[in-house]
Order: sequence, then C-alpha cells, then structure tokens
Amino acid sequence: MTIQIGISACVIGEKVRYDGGHKNSAFCSDILRNFVSYVPVCPELAIGMGTPRPAIRLMKTDVGDIRLVNNKDSSIDFTDKMLAFTEAKLPSLHQLSGYIVCAKSPSCGMERVRLVNEKGELQGKIATGLFTRQLMQTYPWLPVEEDGRLLDEELKENFITRVYAIHAWQQQMKDGFSIGKLVAFHSQFKFLIMAHHPTAYRELGRLVANAKLFAPEELAMRYLLDFSRALKQQATRKQQANVLMHLQGFFKQMLSADAKQELLQLIHQYRVGHAPLLAPLTLLKHHLRQHPQAYVAAQRYLQPFPAELGLRA
Ligand code: SF4
Repeated sequence: MTIQIGISACVIGEKVRYDGGHKNSAFCSDILRNFVSYVPVCPELAIGMGTPRPAIRLMKTDVGDIRLVNNKDSSIDFTDKMLAFTEAKLPSLHQLSGYIVCAKSPSCGMERVRLVNEKGELQGKIATGLFTRQLMQTYPWLPVEEDGRLLDEELKENFITRVYAIHAWQQQMKDGFSIGKLVAFHSQFKFLIMAHHPTAYRELGRLVANAKLFAPEELAMRYLLDFSRALKQQATRKQQANVLMHLQGFFKQMLSADAKQELLQLIHQYRVGHAPLLAPLTLLKHHLRQHPQAYVAAQRYLQPFPAELGLRA
C-alpha cells in the first residue's frame, strides 16, 4: 500500500493562503511526491474562510483559553468552527504515516506559532496551530514535521525515517496485532532504534520480552508510542558508529584481517567526521552480499527508506 502523508495544502503549491498565495516546498512537490501519496488539507479553507481572506492569529484570553481570531477584530472568532472541523476530519486521517504542516500558521503550525494576549501584545512564539495541536493529540505516534524544518538535511532524514518506520508498523499490523508480529517487527528495527535512542532500545527490548504480561491493545500502544518517540531522537555519529560496530561483529569470522581492518577504519573515519555514513554502510552491504545473513539483511537500519530519495548521500 502506498504511504499516505497528510500535508498543509499550501505546501504543495495550492493557492489557499490568506493572501491568495502558496508556500510550495520543492522537496515535497518535486521529490517526495514520487514516493508517497498526499492527503492535502487546508483547515481555513475547509471552514469556509475563502481565499484571499483576512489574516487570523492565536490569542490567549484573560481566563487562559487559546482562541483563533481575526487579526484586527478579535470578536470575529473561528475557534469553535475550527475545532468542529478538526474533530470531524481527524478520524479520516488514521491511515496516515506522517504529516507535513506549514510553519508559523495559527491553524497548521507545529511549534513556535505567535501567541498574543487580549490587548494584542505578543506573549511569545510558543503556540501550536489549532488544527495541528488536535492532530498531534489524537495521533501522538504520528511523525509531524514543518515545511521549513525539512530544509535541514538531518531533520528531513529523521522525518522520512519515521514515516517509513510507522508505515512498516501499519503494514505489519494491518490485519490485527499479535505478539508474534510484534517480535518480528522489533527484530527488524533493533539496530535502527539503537542508533536513535540506546536507552529506548533496551526498554523496548524489555517490553517485547515481557509482552505476555500486557493486554494486547495496551502492549501495541505502548510499543508504538515508545518506538515513535525513540526514532524522533536524532541518531548521533557516536550511536551510529556503535551500531556499525555491532553489525561488523556479524562478519568477524568471515572476513580476512585486511578486510576487517578496512571496515573498522571506515567506521572510525565516520565516527570522527572524516567520512559519510554511506561509506562504512556500503562496505557492510558489500560484505553482506558476499556472506548472506538473513538476520542482518532484514535490518531496516541498512535501508530505512528508498535509496532513490538520496537522503544519506
Ligand atoms: S497554513 Fe494551513 S490553513 Fe494556512 S493556507 Fe496553508 S493549509 Fe491553509
């Protein structure tokens, strides 16, 4: 099944912004589009605001509520309409494997959205857009990222890694959850989890080992939440090098002293920043082709997303 990603409609070039324009992201429109299918949503258009339209903003009232109001006249309040739309829309998004939102928007922004008080004074860039806030509360395991942050190569790779991982989970469990499926899933993702979050790697391992102590639904949700949180943490060079060392251990008996030395040297060069991750990974994959091992070959760490996305390059 194709990966489905929700997306703020303006980010794929739809002219739905308040000023009649868009916020097209070249990565989303020209590259990622070839690998996923988008579910575009413009919450403001969906509640009948039209385009162009007056700008809106998030306002914290004196009693602490967050309201979505007209920039110039805060008595024009869209909060209830937006919440009603969101509540009706969210159940139809359960199949998504990720969501890309437009930064800074009072409806779609993921973080650092401007918040004013009733006098219009800026309280800080501390809010989340109303639609996205509800989206993240409803699907806390869903990878959500902003268009602007996807310009950062590391954040982009992290987001895409999470999208493919969540999609793999959805595929694995599409006909129902079972402990057997959980064990098989965890086995494939062990090294990827270890690269991102060594502590979570140990905790998830314990959870899987004690699977029979939990009710299936609770177990599935606990695993999914901890798994998605673990992958959200960036994989550091040190952690990646640690995983590479574990993987090279599988070939110890098969490689010549020179071949072992070459691989160790490349891992070291990667660890100190003198080589890209692709260098030791390519050599590891070469050894895997020469000395096939099903357990290692099944590791998603080796290829967490299609190579054609060109991210690790
Ligand atoms: S940020 Fe969201 S609400 Fe604003 S134009 Fe884009 S999709 Fe529509």
